[in-house]
Amino acid sequence: MRNFQDFVTAAEQTDPRTPQVVLPAGSGPDVAMDALVVVFGDRDDRSTVRLVVGEVELGAVHRDTVLDLVWTTTKSGLGEGDNLWLPGASTSARYVELACPVPGCPSSHKFVFTYDEDDPPTCSVHPGTPFQRVT
Ligand SMILES: [Zn+2]
Repeated sequence: MRNFQDFVTAAEQTDPRTPQVVLPAGSGPDVAMDALVVVFGDRDDRSTVRLVVGEVELGAVHRDTVLDLVWTTTKSGLGEGDNLWLPGASTSARYVELACPVPGCPSSHKFVFTYDEDDPPTCSVHPGTPFQRVT
C-alpha cells in the first residue's frame, strides 16, 4: 500500500504552467501511481507534473521519483506500465491531454483519465473558454 507522500512533493516551487494529471475524486495512491507511470512513460521529456485528485491539487510529482518507485517494486521500466493495471482500477490506461485553445495561453495542460466532452474544464486565464483535446 502506497501513500501519496511516497511520491508527491510540495508544489510551491513548481511552475504554475506545469501540466496537471487530473484524477477522479477519491482516487487512491495506487491508482495515481499507475496513471503517473502512463503519463511519464508516454513521453521522455515530461519531467514534472502536478497531481490533482478531484478538485484538490496534492502537489508536484517528479519523473525520477516515479521511476525509482516502479523499479524498486516491479523491476519493470517506464512505458511498460500496462502490467501494473489492476482489475477494478478506477482509471483506464488511456488519457487525453487538454489545453486552452487560445494561442500562447500560459495555463497548464491537463492530462485527464475521465472527461465529460459536454462539460470540459475551462481555462483559469480565459474564463469561460473550454479546454480542447490536444491528443
Ligand atoms: Zn487560456
